[in-house]
Amino acid sequence: MSGADAVIVGSGPNGLAAALTLARAGISVDVYEGADTPGGGCRTEALTLEGFHHDVCSSVHPLLVASPFFRDKAGPARSIPLCLPEIALAHPLGGPRAAVVTGSVAATAAHLGVDARAYRRLFGPFVDASDSVVDFALAPPLRSLPGRPFVASRFGAASLLPARVLARRFQSEEAQALLGGVAAHSMLPLTAPLSGGFGLLLTTLAHSVGWPVVEGGSARIVDALVSGIEMLGGRVITGRSIRSLGDLPPARAVLLDVTPRQLVGIAGSSLRGLSRWQMNRFRYGPGICKVDWALSGPVPWSAEACRRTATVHVGGRLDEITRSEAEIARGRHPDRPYCIVAQPSVVDGTRAPAGNHVLWSYCHTPAGSTVDMTSRIEAQIERFAPGFRDLILARVTSTAADFQRHNPNYVGGDISSGAATLWQTMFRPTVRWNPYRTGVKGVYLCGASTPPGAGVHGMCGYWAAQTVLRDLGSGERIGLRLRCG
Ligand SMILES: Cc1cc2nc3c(=O)[nH]c(=O)nc-3n(C[C@H](O)[C@H](O)[C@H](O)COP(=O)(O)OP(=O)(O)OC[C@H]3O[C@@H](n4cnc5c(N)ncnc54)[C@H](O)[C@@H]3O)c2cc1C
Repeated sequence: MSGADAVIVGSGPNGLAAALTLARAGISVDVYEGADTPGGGCRTEALTLEGFHHDVCSSVHPLLVASPFFRDKAGPARSIPLCLPEIALAHPLGGPRAAVVTGSVAATAAHLGVDARAYRRLFGPFVDASDSVVDFALAPPLRSLPGRPFVASRFGAASLLPARVLARRFQSEEAQALLGGVAAHSMLPLTAPLSGGFGLLLTTLAHSVGWPVVEGGSARIVDALVSGIEMLGGRVITGRSIRSLGDLPPARAVLLDVTPRQLVGIAGSSLRGLSRWQMNRFRYGPGICKVDWALSGPVPWSAEACRRTATVHVGGRLDEITRSEAEIARGRHPDRPYCIVAQPSVVDGTRAPAGNHVLWSYCHTPAGSTVDMTSRIEAQIERFAPGFRDLILARVTSTAADFQRHNPNYVGGDISSGAATLWQTMFRPTVRWNPYRTGVKGVYLCGASTPPGAGVHGMCGYWAAQTVLRDLGSGERIGLRLRCG
């Protein structure tokens, strides 16, 4: 057992970001990871055939590039090689038609005909102030002063809207579908408040930093974080699942990269009263069913633009996507699900043997679902890329139930570690001024169930570590200003 000042349970991007932030402040750290390899939602493995490198979870990384933690000059991002597609994302609409986000706001607007002006007016100001928008979106809500308060508050107000309401600014199928497809990353029905906010943030990032993939796979993000921690004397110990606080060596601070449900189990009787009650009331979102394929060639998208991007949103018109996500909210499995497709090998030739490709796609499902959606996902891709099925060399499917088995943070297959409802975005995971404290002295949450939520940005871990530093007598006060490093 160690004598580290701080122990971190879980080596997802947030657990590692917390560990690195503490180590850089001179706090000794040990990270305990239940799985055999570190990384949580940031792993790359040969899931199908030898020589095919699949991202087991995250693949597309605008949040990483934008993250104040990663973009810090001395931060780990310097050693992460990125591949940036010329088209950030594409959304096929049948035959050669596709909506795309590419380059500048003006360049994208130019493809949107009647909606060109509305697109420029919606996204122009946010992209111009992208750093402030990001600082606002990736800080604990209501507790920080954004750099450019006017733009940030305009962004905040627009973000509250359901995607369906925001989409009324557009007339064309292209612009509406584009917004709906990005907004559906929220895992919320498109009629729900805040679903529009996901569309705004991720599209703003598509313009300001692009939607890159990591050369060689997302695991290289984890390699960079782990080597940063080890260079500062920290350790990452794998194969050590922590069931209770008693499994851990004594430390000045314990940071848990887990969700409230696991915290309740790990903290046991130390977590009492209102804190325990609130943690038990934390709500999880729907699950996902994901398919990874090894392909003998690139996906034969009918719309040429889809062949030049790493991310394709498959689901057709806004109405279709809305219907798909509404069915999931009702506990049903849609026949024509909205699917997010990642094709990193389009821009990263290291992922598969020459001429071959890796591909993943997932659709949302009801929580805990054991339904295999492979045939429905493949039918959706085939609809926009006839001949796709003929290229399949091998495939692996993971249902929502499989995801929970793979990572206990994905409760019911919820890859966001908690529903991104309006309430749970404002008060995530509980109503508490500092959301990283748990009610148990010296024990903190640092995973995606805390602000700013899901995604590979490390900011949950960064802010949790700042709280620890402050409690230990250094670090910055959340609420006065937003500054990293
Ligand atoms: C299929 C999929 C696709 C995604 N795509 C993207 C994407 O393209 N871009 C993006 O930005 N984000 C994406 N995400 C989301 C992103 O991966 C997560 O939001 C992010 O990984 C959360 O990081 P975390 O550190 O909070 O938790 P996790 O990454 O979930 O890590 C938690 C770690 O803690 C460990 N752990 C849990 N309990 C214990 C315990 N009791 N003892 C020891 N260890 C424990 C787990 O094994 C795990 O390694 C995707 C997720 C999935 C599943």
